[in-house]
Amino acid sequence: MPHTVVAEATALSRRDFVKVCTAAAAAVGLPAWAGEKMAEQVAKGKKPSVIWLHYQECTGCTESLLRANAPGVGELILDLISLDYHETLAAAAGYQFEATLESTMKENAGKYVLVVEGSIPLKDGGVYCYVGGEKAIDTLTRVAEKAAAVIAIGSCASWGGIPSASPNPTGAVGVSQALKGKPVVALPGCPANPYNLLGTVLQFATFGTLPALDDKGRPLFAYARVIHEDCPRRAHFDNGRFAQAFGDPGHRQGWCLYKLGCKGPQTHANCSLLNFCELPGAWPIGLGHPCIGCTEQGIAFNVPIHQNMPIDKPTAPMAYPGVNPPQGHQSLIAVGVAGLVVGAAAGAGYAASRKLAVPPGQGTKKED
Ligand code: SF4
Repeated sequence: MPHTVVAEATALSRRDFVKVCTAAAAAVGLPAWAGEKMAEQVAKGKKPSVIWLHYQECTGCTESLLRANAPGVGELILDLISLDYHETLAAAAGYQFEATLESTMKENAGKYVLVVEGSIPLKDGGVYCYVGGEKAIDTLTRVAEKAAAVIAIGSCASWGGIPSASPNPTGAVGVSQALKGKPVVALPGCPANPYNLLGTVLQFATFGTLPALDDKGRPLFAYARVIHEDCPRRAHFDNGRFAQAFGDPGHRQGWCLYKLGCKGPQTHANCSLLNFCELPGAWPIGLGHPCIGCTEQGIAFNVPIHQNMPIDKPTAPMAYPGVNPPQGHQSLIAVGVAGLVVGAAAGAGYAASRKLAVPPGQGTKKED
């Protein structure tokens, strides 16, 4: 494949493009050769058309996408897809912009991907959110009807999120509740991890299929395990070392946040393995705040932040190294070594992707 074609199509060198695709594919559970396959698809000019609608939300998911590092996930996604309609990123406005939605739907009927950010108000006939003079529920229904796939990004689009918190004055619901009978891929998170969108889009663009989902519509590659299973503070939980208050000695030493209300034991997500903005430690527990359960329907914005959760998996995973010294009291050195082992295991994939994602001219030999 002539790499100039790819370079023109993606603004990245072919080698960098394939490397980033491969790292992202591996991170979300796609086979390693998916990156190469993706580059081939882009070289052929086969970019899936994407329509991105915004409703009741804060635009945090779009912001999170745009804040990824270079060569960023946002940049990669924008290179992989043809983002034909996005209300936040569009330069055009008014009637001219609205006409883009109609023409995109017409030209790509049955083939485009619809990404929805934000909840849909249904109370009082859906009068609480209009965009371009049309009710949210009406535009959503109309655009979803001709979509090849519908992705709900973020907790608001997945379940209703903050707008649906009691007393839910607008009757806010998630996309799957608003579009009854239409399959919807849910990527909850407040914000959603951009890598999870990337993995879903990569699979659809490459294979024309959507990832395997759990019973709530979440891709299993990202939401099969609870955070508690892969948390870097798990060794502290298993050994009974808990922060009792923000700023106390245990909190300052990075102990388990369960007693501060951590929802990690009940929250399915991959935040501990794929941190945000590609910055190690950039996720709530990594920054010292308990998980609030934003990827779990009925937890975030429903259960008080500092309320304790039941523990379903009290025993350590088989792959998790023990931290108990052979005898006597707990050694801080043993804890530290165990933490390093766990950190090395959990961080290996991340470190690999960082290495692969080094920008051109900063450590990787360019092919073109
Ligand atoms: Fe990590 Fe929270 Fe589990 Fe503690 S309770 S190990 S902080 S997920």
